[in-house]
Amino acid sequence: MAAVGRVAWSFSTPSCLLRTRHGISGTLSAVCKAQVIQPGYRSWNPVLRLSSFSGLSLSRRSKRVLKPSSTGDWLRRYISAVITDRSQKSTEEAIRENIPKRVVGNVYHSFQLVQEEYIPDIDSVIRKYVHTNTGAQLMSILNNEENKTFGVVFRTPPSNSRGTPHILEHSVLCGSRKYPVKEPFVELMKSSLNTFLNAFTFPDKTCYPVASCNLKDFYNLVDVYLDAVFYPNLTPDVLKQEGHHFELFEQDAPITIQGVVYNEMKGVFSNPDSVIGSWSQRCLFPENTYGVESGGDPQEIPDLSWREFQDFYRQLYHPSNTRFWFYGDDPEDMRLQKLEEYLKDFKKLSVDSKVKLQSRWKQPKYFTFGYDAGNDNLEKKHMATVNWMLADVTDDPTKILALSVLDHLLTGTSASPLRKTLTDSGLGEEVIGSGIETDLRQITYSIGLKGMAKEGCESLEKLVVDTLNKLSKDGFSQGEIESSLNTIEFMLKEQNTGSFPKGLALMLRSLTTWLHDSDPLIPLKFEIPLQQLKEILQKDRTYLNRLIEEHFILNTHRAYVSLVPDPEFATKQAEKEMKRIEDFRQTLDKDGIQQLIEETKRLKEKQIRPDDPAQLAKIPALKKSDIDQKAPVIPRQVTSLEETTVLLTPLFTNGIVYFDMAMNIRQLPAHLLSYVPLFGECLLELGTRKEDFVSLQQRIGRETGGIRHSIYCSQMDVPNHVGGYGPAVAEFIIRGKVMSNKTPLLFDILRDVLFDIDFSNKERFRQILIEEKSGVESSIGPSGHRVAASRLNAQYTSSGWADEQMGGISYLKFLSDLVHRLDSEWDSIHSDLETLRSYLVSRSHMTVQVTTDERTFESSVRPSLSHLLQQIPKDVQAQPATSWEQTHQLDQHKRNEGIIVPSTVNYVGKGANLFQLGYQPDGTSLLAMKYLGISYLWERIRVQGGAYGAFGKVDLRTGQLVFLSYRDPHVKKTLDTYDQAAVFLSQAQLSSDEIERCIIGVIGDMDSYQLPDAKGFTNLIRYLSGVTQERLQERRDQVLSCTHHDLVQFGSVLQNVASSGSIVAVGSEQALQQANSQGLDLKLFRATEQ
Ligand SMILES: [Zn+2]
Repeated sequence: MAAVGRVAWSFSTPSCLLRTRHGISGTLSAVCKAQVIQPGYRSWNPVLRLSSFSGLSLSRRSKRVLKPSSTGDWLRRYISAVITDRSQKSTEEAIRENIPKRVVGNVYHSFQLVQEEYIPDIDSVIRKYVHTNTGAQLMSILNNEENKTFGVVFRTPPSNSRGTPHILEHSVLCGSRKYPVKEPFVELMKSSLNTFLNAFTFPDKTCYPVASCNLKDFYNLVDVYLDAVFYPNLTPDVLKQEGHHFELFEQDAPITIQGVVYNEMKGVFSNPDSVIGSWSQRCLFPENTYGVESGGDPQEIPDLSWREFQDFYRQLYHPSNTRFWFYGDDPEDMRLQKLEEYLKDFKKLSVDSKVKLQSRWKQPKYFTFGYDAGNDNLEKKHMATVNWMLADVTDDPTKILALSVLDHLLTGTSASPLRKTLTDSGLGEEVIGSGIETDLRQITYSIGLKGMAKEGCESLEKLVVDTLNKLSKDGFSQGEIESSLNTIEFMLKEQNTGSFPKGLALMLRSLTTWLHDSDPLIPLKFEIPLQQLKEILQKDRTYLNRLIEEHFILNTHRAYVSLVPDPEFATKQAEKEMKRIEDFRQTLDKDGIQQLIEETKRLKEKQIRPDDPAQLAKIPALKKSDIDQKAPVIPRQVTSLEETTVLLTPLFTNGIVYFDMAMNIRQLPAHLLSYVPLFGECLLELGTRKEDFVSLQQRIGRETGGIRHSIYCSQMDVPNHVGGYGPAVAEFIIRGKVMSNKTPLLFDILRDVLFDIDFSNKERFRQILIEEKSGVESSIGPSGHRVAASRLNAQYTSSGWADEQMGGISYLKFLSDLVHRLDSEWDSIHSDLETLRSYLVSRSHMTVQVTTDERTFESSVRPSLSHLLQQIPKDVQAQPATSWEQTHQLDQHKRNEGIIVPSTVNYVGKGANLFQLGYQPDGTSLLAMKYLGISYLWERIRVQGGAYGAFGKVDLRTGQLVFLSYRDPHVKKTLDTYDQAAVFLSQAQLSSDEIERCIIGVIGDMDSYQLPDAKGFTNLIRYLSGVTQERLQERRDQVLSCTHHDLVQFGSVLQNVASSGSIVAVGSEQALQQANSQGLDLKLFRATEQ
């Protein structure tokens, strides 16, 4: 329920170095090695967390549910409607044809097969093996999936908050026996076709997953990861770099504490959503490992000793404590042989890593913590959650599914009764909490509010408990249940994990039982529990009421956690850090100081010393000859229906229709632009003149797989266009998905909301507005890099400017103003919204994209789509002659900004427009920026500087080049590093081998794995931006033929960026003022007072 990225925010985000997490875990401790992943609260989570990863299904704004329909036999009707739509036949025979026969009990490559089963729910044959010598477990999942996934998982429950598992997760990827280079992980990022490469620390486990569609590449990745986890070169220097160390450059300079994880977790703890998420979990489990922070608390990380670190590794990173996962169409013998190769040197070890159970409380408990909420407007900055440790059901899949349905019923959409009660109460600005959390050994539930006054904080618990009490008596309507069930069933069947590999999503699901020594197959099956649950619900109308009673009303294991704004908090934290440093300084005499200086120098030098080329060459990589020279083609048919352009992306989608309706907003009057995203919220949240929003939301949930909206801004791709980029592209896009037989129902809903949306409902509008404002506001701190990129882009191109108006600081400003104007100027706001609606709802502005197979398109989509389009007027009502694009004067003079947020880390950006510098960016630019990102910037800003991440990005359509850092302790120093990139590149000595590796990596980024709905969306975006297949091939050819000379040449372009680029830094007032005192001229302002 907290903010989740939209296209408007994420278009400037590189796909490879930055990935927004939509809830790998509701707790904050799923942290990662390299990719910037934000702990996000998700609205709800079916047993299957598939949904959480799906870009489409779980954005903050995809709401669905149902409306009471009183036919008695709704369930049977509903079951037949959904089930018969599944057109893909079971492929057991097809899978078995391609795999070796095995006998349970026999040993293969030193692995004993202990269990085998075909699971139709995921079209896979599943084999569980145990390694005879060590007891290591292997789940070998065999199917026809080309996106192969491997994972190695250790059970790593920590006993304190020093961050040991997290620092280890980083450290084992810093060189190993076979690959003794500084960071093999980075080499893989540079040079593989991976569709996923990362590592996660959870509260009780550490996972190292990789995925690739290329078999050779896949096994290269597997080999590097296996060597890393079983034979890492762990040294005290690695602990210093990734964990913590004291740093001192010269005699009179201040000593500081640095370390990648140390700064990463400082960033995490600067985000109030993460802080309350962490405490909400920890307070429920004072007796076991879930009571500590596995990611590490910055206050405790410096207490981690080398001895403790080493012991933790020795005890837990052993095959006897390992679970392996293989998934996909790769040969099974290869899997077993590869593992055998690594396991043969180990003997069985008795490892005590079981997660102990938390005993149940007799009474609820209360916890209050202070936090840093900045210094202004503190009266409405309280937040609180009510949390339960639920009754024990971990081995009963039907009960877990029932709890997930209950979770969705309670808070899945804004119309859900618990969520609606909280919103309507006016106690706070935004509903928070992870809902049901099945990741831990004991299941939890969390719900709360942020943006509360002190009094709100005091009455929240009673409100939640009273509401649940009432629901346990009154229950839910049939319509509500039907809608929630449909929503969950749609997700279970669609298995749309977005850009997250399906095999990895299934591994995480399987681990919910497997990690605790229960049957790993249980969470992979959903058909039977689903049928059982439906039967129960049909027979027993009070089943869900009793579920609420059992798990909430009679359950006294409840923790009430409140977070209170403390203006002194940041100072007190800083003082503690200072004291630690001071205590340390006291232990040093003059020689000690000198030693520390030398030690700092030694570490820095070691970090930038290039790897031995001979060792680097050992990292397995593909050759240019291994990859396709042709740019992949996404099929596309362009037709016209009722004078509207309709794109069909003809792909097999298992009976689902994915629908995108794009509305061109380039000609929109300037004063309406910032209304667009808010309008998108209103479409699905406000209700129509015929139907209130509760009923509308229920209908969306009952009939569809979800509807959401997004915004896309860029410039047209016009080859050889004078001045570089073409005109701006700006589109508002409504996106829906539906089982094909229900397509007309999706279109009915769209027609209703587009024509009949009820903008006169001012009070509901106020709720939506306040929630939107709160969501945007809370996304600024943790996504400072996006804010910086957006502000930079706004200075150079009109699409960048528009994007910022609809998603950046300017949008936040617009929302804040609107809140204040709402009562005094309601009539004019109302009329603006109506004008916007009538402008958008016009066929002359629309482009439609449909992804499904041709037969389904002809039979199920074309007739009803035609009917929908006929009803939409072709011409717009008379508009003011000038659009925002004409009105707004490109403000191209250089502007350096410092945006103040409450944070202990910074986000530093610098950028310029290459077209405006007279340079035509091409494939070479992509390669140069990728190379810089994973060599120079990684080393200087992350490894040496202690930031969590840094990267450079160039957008070939807009010509925007930006450097960005993430959770960065520095400002000025990072900017200096950006400026020196030009010199680094000009002098870079790259072997042809290294260049080839980079080429493979860039091609890997270009060919990123996409599910059908994502391919359809890419088709739409390319069409709207004028990107042709020839153009894609041209870029690919440029990348494939890139030479050392090209890269060096790009150095001179960067020189121009250094001298004429603009700066935007996001960080604390103190850090930004310090940067100014070091010679920068940032114009400082608070995010909320532009
Ligand atoms: Zn990390």
